[in-house]
Amino acid sequence: MILHIDMDAFFASIEQAINPRFKGKPLIVGSRPNKLYTVVCAASYEAKRRGVHSGMSSADALKLCPDLEFIAADQSKYIWTSEEIFRSLKEYGYPLEHVSIDEFQLDIGTHPEPLKLAEDIRKQIYANFNITASVGIGKNWLLAKLASKVNKPDGSCQITSDNFQEVLRNTPLDKLCGMGGKTGAILAASGVKTCWDLYLKMPGYFTQNPSKFKETPDGPKSVGHSYTLPRASGNPGVIRAWIRLLSEMVGTRLRQQNLLASTVHLWLNGPQIGNFSRQRASKQVTSDGFELYSRALKIMADLGPGLPKIRVLGVTASSLQEQVYQPFLAEEVRREDLVKALDYINRRFGENTVYPAQIRLIQK
Ligand SMILES: [Mg+2]
Repeated sequence: MILHIDMDAFFASIEQAINPRFKGKPLIVGSRPNKLYTVVCAASYEAKRRGVHSGMSSADALKLCPDLEFIAADQSKYIWTSEEIFRSLKEYGYPLEHVSIDEFQLDIGTHPEPLKLAEDIRKQIYANFNITASVGIGKNWLLAKLASKVNKPDGSCQITSDNFQEVLRNTPLDKLCGMGGKTGAILAASGVKTCWDLYLKMPGYFTQNPSKFKETPDGPKSVGHSYTLPRASGNPGVIRAWIRLLSEMVGTRLRQQNLLASTVHLWLNGPQIGNFSRQRASKQVTSDGFELYSRALKIMADLGPGLPKIRVLGVTASSLQEQVYQPFLAEEVRREDLVKALDYINRRFGENTVYPAQIRLIQK
């Protein structure tokens, strides 16, 4: 049995725990220290209840909630808390995984009273850190993670063979790991709205594969490539071609290691902008160079209109996980087949036998 711990509104809760002024108030944690021009990276439950969610612009969040409190993200605080929680969970003596900064999994074997254990853990976290967690229990990691969302925030749930159908019926598809964004939208359009609908079509998705414990491999934490131009260039075609090339190289390396990434990081350096370094997380994991490139371009759009001169570029993919499932939507399958074929040709006949035409611009 797997026990999945998911911290509730982690970054925002930590800020509220540290600063009582924020307690009980709608609060957002912004990725940069500018209340009016940033992206929400976490929202407190008070803010969530008013429609604010992570990923939206702070300007939109303020429209929904004008009395919103704001604080800029301080990664070191969150990493420290996450590591301390990990350390305290280790004392339970079960195999333990750090799934992400705010998620942990224990393999509790055949523990006789898993729900009681869940309550112990939640109490201990609250006593030590003054923040709440939700816990889910299931016979594999996918179900455990899903269960952690059932009574979120500040609750726990065990999916058993008795309540399996009921829980899946009551859980919209977007709560299922890997079903965010585009995939969920396409499935919803074909009538798959709840986890139960999906189960009826693909029972294996819930019961097979994900019995293996590890979600994050012991491999690299990130995969990146960077390049320094001989001289700074403000030519958008050239800069985009380099970002494409670097993204394709990152994608190739991810696929070689059977990894998928959900966060893309773009780093640019130039005489006018100095260091521009920003990352963006997405619900949808990918190892497709073109997708990485599209996401990097969205980050670059933060520079505003008119491209400044750029000398150094870097593209990095992080928040890595092993690819457990093959895609099953027609359009994703087609895309993956294409990428696989290109990988095969490049492996067989040498690197860069086939490459995107866009890159020709920077090849001599
Ligand atoms: Mg969480």
